[in-house]
Amino acid sequence: MDTEKVKTKNGLKGGSEIINVTKTYLPDRNKLNNYIDKIYSTAWVTNNGQFVQELTSRLEEYLGVQNLLLVSNGTSALQVAYKTLGITGQVITTPFSFVATTSSLVWEGIDPVFVDIDPETFCIDPSKIENAILPETTAIVPVHVFGNACEVEEIESIAKRHNLKTIYDGAHAFGVKYKGESLLSYGDATTLSFHATKLFHTIEGGAIIFKNKEDYEKAKLMINFGISGPDAVIELGINAKMNEFQAAMGLCILDEIDTILEQRSEICKHYENSLKDYVQLQKRNLECTNNYSYFPVLFESEEKLLKVRAAMNSAGINPRRYFSPSLDTLVYLQPKEPQRISRDIANRVLCLPLYPELSVNHQNEVILTMRDLS
Ligand SMILES: *Cc1c(COP(=O)(O)O)cnc(C)c1O
Repeated sequence: MDTEKVKTKNGLKGGSEIINVTKTYLPDRNKLNNYIDKIYSTAWVTNNGQFVQELTSRLEEYLGVQNLLLVSNGTSALQVAYKTLGITGQVITTPFSFVATTSSLVWEGIDPVFVDIDPETFCIDPSKIENAILPETTAIVPVHVFGNACEVEEIESIAKRHNLKTIYDGAHAFGVKYKGESLLSYGDATTLSFHATKLFHTIEGGAIIFKNKEDYEKAKLMINFGISGPDAVIELGINAKMNEFQAAMGLCILDEIDTILEQRSEICKHYENSLKDYVQLQKRNLECTNNYSYFPVLFESEEKLLKVRAAMNSAGINPRRYFSPSLDTLVYLQPKEPQRISRDIANRVLCLPLYPELSVNHQNEVILTMRDLS
């Protein structure tokens, strides 16, 4: 097929709309207004209000988890998790993630030690973890990259053997099941991001899911300055609370999550069927469900990626180079051992536009551009 023809047919030429890698999902306006009316009637806008409590219990039920603590964003979720679990010294983590996985460690004075990824799953390679453990190592921070489950059992057994904590960055793994149970229950803690660009969002927001109730209770104090009552501060704390407007947005979106997932899954299936012979796709962990949070494709070279991206850009389509650059190249780190696989994947990976409203015409435009140049 000829992309030019499709463009004309779909009226995408000239000043057509810009298609970005994602578009923030906004829920039913009337429903949101009802929540906002209630906030106005009580004037309770933050500090563990009614909607934060309601969202907490609805998310625990929807995700099938316990000890879920809502926080202000996904980065503070990581920081509070490290602080709660007493993480210091060095932490083993992946170089292939969003920058916050590494920057949150550095911000807390923890030294990230990178372990390279599996070139097909894009997740940390567990067979390389043990060699990287040093006397100062206190934890492992893996990422379920693009919602694809890490080798959680192997990672948990390594952590146990070496007396390390595990904190999974589950920012992409909302709702993912592993062997029929929530993937988010693994580790001492798993963090989520509810940023506007994520599958489920509260504008800004996040959550920590703790294995132990005591850790949950400690973190709950920590996100509110360590204040335990009108006259008592019993813990070093910070401000990382979610507010009622954020929670209201989350409650509205949670009502629509099944439709969102259905629409995203259809787009992913269309991409997969149309592109699997042209580009390499992420190898999914067969034990986990797909939440269709991202659609990454891997080109044979960076040159090809740049060519395809340029063609898309000129058609008004903006895919994103997630994740690039590889985090072992961050300028503010002490020089690190080069993580060759992560750097290679970072140079060749592109995430395609994916959001419920993305029209079939626009999906075809993406597909045809890729096919024409691949
Ligand atoms: C989005 C994201 C974060 C940060 O979450 P924020 O809510 O934006 O602070 C952390 N890790 C990963 C892997 C992410 O994709």
